[in-house]
Amino acid sequence: KQTVSGEKDMLLNQDRAFLWHHMAPHNDHPAIFTESDNVYLTDIDGNSYIDGMAGLWCVNVGHGRTSIAEAAAKQLNTMPFTPMTNSHKPAIQLAAKLNDWLDGHYRIFFSNSGSDANEVAFKIARQYFTQTGKPKKYKFISRYRAYHGNSMGALGATGQADRKASYEPVAEGFRHAAPPYCYRCPFGKEPDSCSLECASSIEQTIVWEGADTVAGVIVEPVITGGGVITPPESYLQKVQEICQKHDVLLIVDEVICGFGRSGEAFGHKNFGVQPDIVTMAKGITSAYAPLSATAVSNDLYESFKSGGPQSHFRHVNTFGGNPMSCAVALENIDILEREDLVAQAKSTGSYLRAQLESFYQFPSVGDIRTFGLMAGIELVTDKTTKEPAPPEFMQQVLGYCKQHGVMIGKNSDTVPEHNNVLTISPPFIISHEQIDTIVETLREAITRASPA
Ligand code: PMP
Repeated sequence: KQTVSGEKDMLLNQDRAFLWHHMAPHNDHPAIFTESDNVYLTDIDGNSYIDGMAGLWCVNVGHGRTSIAEAAAKQLNTMPFTPMTNSHKPAIQLAAKLNDWLDGHYRIFFSNSGSDANEVAFKIARQYFTQTGKPKKYKFISRYRAYHGNSMGALGATGQADRKASYEPVAEGFRHAAPPYCYRCPFGKEPDSCSLECASSIEQTIVWEGADTVAGVIVEPVITGGGVITPPESYLQKVQEICQKHDVLLIVDEVICGFGRSGEAFGHKNFGVQPDIVTMAKGITSAYAPLSATAVSNDLYESFKSGGPQSHFRHVNTFGGNPMSCAVALENIDILEREDLVAQAKSTGSYLRAQLESFYQFPSVGDIRTFGLMAGIELVTDKTTKEPAPPEFMQQVLGYCKQHGVMIGKNSDTVPEHNNVLTISPPFIISHEQIDTIVETLREAITRASPA
């Protein structure tokens, strides 16, 4: 199908002339998307693609939700904006709703993006210790391969060297420990010889840094963008125990795992832990509007109530908790509840896992990891040496899929030679038939790609 003649060329020229994309100037031929519905994206030429990544791990309720558009329009027609030192109905209702979903007692601070939500968590953690007479506790520990955002603090927490290379020095005070990466265990262990050395390495880092200098440990329940790295079952509980032992706050980044992606309300619920701080974004609105939240346990919040002006949390944020975004989030969460989509994500995730199992027959498929409705397929040149598949092989696979109407992703810039994990994370409403299309297209793509 051809759109208005010449329009595409004009837009592409203007894109090249005026827009600055992530990773530019390497993407000289971006797809220009014009419409989306259900699990499909349509480009300006009328080509349709299955959105196998739900945008960037976020359009959980699927595309084309008119009830969300209506909620946004209604709020915009009522009261589009109010400064956040005051309150408004959608923010109050949403903070209460988030507490239902968290099953706990949390104070909610709204901001705009996942990076913002993590910055807020770091500031609150530092100020908390300052107020309780332990101002030296300012460091944070995260894991290598994890991504926590692109502002200087969130980048500091990010354990991916390649993302930071051009921007050092990032914020001071961030340290990294080994990831719970069983396929390539940093400690050379196998599941039957494992004593959770990866969790112990967090404790070791706390001790070596000096526990009186460490404010928090930040983890995703599963390292998502860094390659769907699923930890051993009791890993997160051990990390929580370590944090409690050393008076260190456990911050859980639920930017991707939250709101059902993990098959539970939040990813950490799969592991039975109760974080001190939970950060969330993406799935809070299914990306229909920008919004993020930092949920802080009431115990922490109490210490901010008692101490006069010094205990005020200072983080003015023009758009944080914007009424339209909160109204969108409320409708998005209502859809998840009405349509029982968290349970659906869980069962569709099991279906996806079962369909992928036969991929182990490929010489290039080293590992398949899943968590709720997300999958990571690690490609290698040799199953014994586990040599990562090179970028050209990844490109052939991803390119074939895109050409055949299936958009999936790959893990993000850890070190370039380790960007060898294909990722799948579709909207929760995806049907089994649509999953089959993704799986069969991918099977064909891997079959046809030249040996790595
Ligand atoms: N944390 C995680 C786990 C993420 O995946 C992301 C974004 N991909 C962020 C934080 C940052 O979110 P944002 O892009 O909204 O700043």
